[in-house]
Amino acid sequence: MILKLRVASLILIHILILSHVYIFGSDVVGSIDFQEFFHSFIKLGVVNAGVILVFIAFTTTLIFGRFFCGWACHFGAIQEFSWYILNKLNIKPKTVDSKLVTLLPFIILLNFYFIPNIYHSINNPWDEIIVTLNEPDIWKFLPGFTIGLLTFLIDGFLIVYFLGKKGFCRFICPWGAFLKFPNSLAFFKVRKTGTCTECHVCTSECPVGIDVSYEINNYNKVTNTNCTSCLNCTYGCPSNALSYTYENPIKEEFNLKNYIQNKGSYIHTNISNQFTNIRNKDFLFLIILLIISFSLDGLYAMGHFMAFGIGTITSFILLFKLKKINKILQYSIVAIIACFVLWHGTIKYSIWRGYYNYNQQNYTKAIRHLERATFLYLKDIGKFHIRLSEMYLYQNKIEEAKYHANKAKIINPNYESPEQLLNLINKH
Ligand code: SF4
Ligand code: SF4
Repeated sequence: MILKLRVASLILIHILILSHVYIFGSDVVGSIDFQEFFHSFIKLGVVNAGVILVFIAFTTTLIFGRFFCGWACHFGAIQEFSWYILNKLNIKPKTVDSKLVTLLPFIILLNFYFIPNIYHSINNPWDEIIVTLNEPDIWKFLPGFTIGLLTFLIDGFLIVYFLGKKGFCRFICPWGAFLKFPNSLAFFKVRKTGTCTECHVCTSECPVGIDVSYEINNYNKVTNTNCTSCLNCTYGCPSNALSYTYENPIKEEFNLKNYIQNKGSYIHTNISNQFTNIRNKDFLFLIILLIISFSLDGLYAMGHFMAFGIGTITSFILLFKLKKINKILQYSIVAIIACFVLWHGTIKYSIWRGYYNYNQQNYTKAIRHLERATFLYLKDIGKFHIRLSEMYLYQNKIEEAKYHANKAKIINPNYESPEQLLNLINKH
């Protein structure tokens, strides 16, 4: 019953999203995206539809917990659907038990969303708060079709296959990390209100991979901040031992150690075959996944979600999945991945140094770095050719300037800047 209600809620939400996109466009209400809170409100003091959504999500989470993630989020829904399909195919991935589920989403949230936008607003304080609902455009923060599809494939399906239940929500999602704090204070929680037989049905039924039985028997409530208030456990408990109930926040018992994953969870014999513990390799796992993710992030129009999805899955495969194959194949896979990371890391470094030197007007160095980036990049990027053409022109190297302006014109025939550059070059 509760699952049907949740499915109905998710379908309704998606009908509303489609109606928004196809019927209203951006005329009345623009992008309703979590990112708006950081890119628009924190950075510029702009309140738009996305910012209002975040305020609503934050305050309702304070009352009801992270129900938003369980009852309205498409990424969560796709992962649950993937889990369902895998089980139907008799594929039963183990859910990874790691402390990084607490750390990694915070790293992503702070590094990409909080710190850069707070830094900007400190250096450029807002003059006033501006309210505008029809900006930005709906598609402003959404990737193109191919990258969007790949992101859903990686973060909606592959990550579930490799890291288990809601791998994306637990390991990567920065919005989930943002809601963890109000979730820990939520008035309504899953609480133990009857006699538990420790059958662990609740743990098996939890779509987020929480050891519900362990938590309610040790803390009398679910303290795990990944809980999405889906209520699978309360409705599924054969002994009626659980309820989703209110507690006065003044009387609520808060114990910080109950919010930190405990070593005693996930080991009961009834559920131990559903989980795999990687806590003793967490540090290595984190280092490798950060190196891979940062080497890719932003390249080929790839967003943070996709880059970190690839980084997390690849790091997991490298550390835990290669052991079963023969050594030669093992070393070959490691060597291929290392070359790939080194190659793309060099591209990222070259772009960063190229633009840094360009802004410093150190054109000789900037040209060297941007030429390397252009050579290594698997895609022709028009803006690199424009910059190179400008700098060659400044150095009076007309042939090179013309070559790059022509390349930029072929890549983006509708843009004006290559044509303007060619007119300038022809005057020399
Ligand atoms: S399903 Fe109910 S009885 Fe079984 S472990 Fe969970 S709370 Fe206890
Ligand atoms: S603990 Fe219960 S309510 Fe929370 S996500 Fe798991 S099954 Fe849903």
